[in-house]
Amino acid sequence: MTTEQKIRDRKIGIVGMARSGLAAALLADSFGGKPFVSDFDSADKLQTETARLDAAQIPYEVGGHTDKLLTADYLVVSPGVPLTIDILQKAVAQGIPIFSEIEFASWCCKGKIIAITGSNGKTTTTTLLGELFSAAGFDTFVAGNIGLPFSEIVSKTSEKSIVILEISNFQLETISDFKPNVAVILNLTPDHLDRHGSFENYVTTKFRITENQSDSDYLVLNADDKTTTAYNLQTLASVRHFSIEKTKDITAFVRNNFLTVNGEQIIATDKISILGPHNLQNAAAVVTVASLFDIEIDVMGRVLSTFQPVEHRLENIGSVAGVNFINDSKATNIDSVAYAIQSVKTNIYLIAGGRDKGADFTEIIQYGKNKIKSIIAIGEAKEKIYEQLGKTFSVEFADTLESAVKIAFTKAMPGETVLLSPGCASFDMFENYEQRGSDFKTAVAGLKNGKNENETLSKN
Ligand code: ADP
Repeated sequence: MTTEQKIRDRKIGIVGMARSGLAAALLADSFGGKPFVSDFDSADKLQTETARLDAAQIPYEVGGHTDKLLTADYLVVSPGVPLTIDILQKAVAQGIPIFSEIEFASWCCKGKIIAITGSNGKTTTTTLLGELFSAAGFDTFVAGNIGLPFSEIVSKTSEKSIVILEISNFQLETISDFKPNVAVILNLTPDHLDRHGSFENYVTTKFRITENQSDSDYLVLNADDKTTTAYNLQTLASVRHFSIEKTKDITAFVRNNFLTVNGEQIIATDKISILGPHNLQNAAAVVTVASLFDIEIDVMGRVLSTFQPVEHRLENIGSVAGVNFINDSKATNIDSVAYAIQSVKTNIYLIAGGRDKGADFTEIIQYGKNKIKSIIAIGEAKEKIYEQLGKTFSVEFADTLESAVKIAFTKAMPGETVLLSPGCASFDMFENYEQRGSDFKTAVAGLKNGKNENETLSKN
């Protein structure tokens, strides 16, 4: 079926009116479809969105999903909407197809798609690929989970475009024909088990990224990742591996401290601007993809040496009185915290905690044993952190992030590092992880501005 046939004159129910839903509705409209948008939030909260829909004369409902959605030929769901909600369960029962916004937008894409998924590192890798492909002169788009919906940019693509998409599991749950030219699975560690029920389900959903690929497509895998290698992944795509531990049958690997692709040295690992073994893996994934498009080694090296970390991911925010501060607010699972600890070369005062996602904090002991001087625990997970880590480390409680920063700063000596790497979700104390990271930066700026002169002076 052509894109036209899939969309023109079709009744398309769009569930969710946030940025992705809105973009999908406008896209459907531009292809001659008949979108109808539904959101459970109140009219009050959705004024901007409904104004856009009014302007485009697209019908909608707010304040709840009614059975009107069930008159659609198919539904398009925004990534934040769980498949378990009543209306979607009813749609399933009635046999109404449900597609993710990524699936829907992909029908309208003229360019080549590089799709990145995994438990950690998606945003970093997607952003880095975006910079590299732009630097290499490609007509590049970066979209998906990264904040810019695929539906919003897809009409601008041409046959020459490269679209680099960050894909979450939620988007993969409802794909049907989505067929990336290159799919990347960075790693698979337990996360989001709340939504997927079991790790098995989570892994199976991630593997769906390759289910429509053919032998002219590529699947890029992490040879160091125990889960990816343990499962028997079925694919028709040509598989390429990256690794920072092995070299045999690997496209991008590390040899003699150089990141190497197809046997060619790209850059000394200590010249790569983003820190830590996890970022080396991300860099290896990126150059594996780049090699499939014949991007020159020089361009790869240049971009890897200058790329700046994405905000809230091991973001170095400077020092106060010689104490270094790193914002890793995006670290919402233990795996990321473990990598963060490995990336910091100095002693660490770790600020962790928030809403627990079922994490086992003891996993950080092996990495933090000789580095973590003290843990300042915040949020709902405070007690659990104390129970699991109190025997190994000094653990203190703070009621706010600001006071955690002050406590850590008081304790740290010049040359040491205060690391915010929570290993938890942020929703108990903050709107989201971005706000948590911004508040951290504000608290550090407060120290810089001398609000805590006593501590500042004591470091000098
Ligand atoms: P995602 O988009 O998958 O959440 P990000 O790039 O935003 O990934 O990084 C999220 C967190 O995971 C950050 O704390 C970051 O330092 C850490 N991280 C980045 N890459 C990796 C990786 N390959 N493995 C484990 N942790 C990683």
